[in-house]
This record gives sequence, C-alpha cells and structure tokens, in this order.
Amino acid sequence: MASDHTLVPVGDEEYVLLCDCPRCGAALELPLFAGVFRQSASAGQGGGGTSHVEPMSCMCLDDHPNRPHDRTGCGAYWTLTITSTP
Ligand SMILES: [Zn+2]
Ligand SMILES: [Zn+2]
Repeated sequence: MASDHTLVPVGDEEYVLLCDCPRCGAALELPLFAGVFRQSASAGQGGGGTSHVEPMSCMCLDDHPNRPHDRTGCGAYWTLTITSTP
C-alpha cells in the first residue's frame, strides 16, 4: 500500500495533513494537532517516530452524481496511518 499523504508541520503543536482521496482523487487538507501522536505513544508504542491512525472521509466539494445535497465528499471512508518524524 503506497503512502500517499504528506504531513506538514505548522508551528510546534500542529500539522496539516495533505492527501488525495483514493476514490475521486480530490486534494484534501486536514489540521492535526501534535497531541494525537503523544496519545498514541502513551498507548505503548516504542522507539522512533510514533504512528497514529486517522479516520478519514472525503470532504471534496466536487459535484458527484448520486450525492445527497446536504453532504460534501464522494462518500469514501478510509484510514491513514500517519507516522510522525521526530
Ligand atoms: Zn470528489
Ligand atoms: Zn473523494
């Protein structure tokens, strides 16, 4: 499985996660606080960078057929395993 996301540090306590929707290919941005990695680390992972599993859903604003009008995205749901770089 290819890792197709990018983690961009924003200051000391925040990241912006950039990835493409695997279904429709829309470019998505999601703010992530650095605390999610500390929580994962305290759950018992050891050594190196800590990883965090982020549940994702497509939030694109594209006009997809069959999509209810009050929703955004193409309906795709997936998870990203994000590894912090110490
Ligand atoms: Zn889309
Ligand atoms: Zn999508």
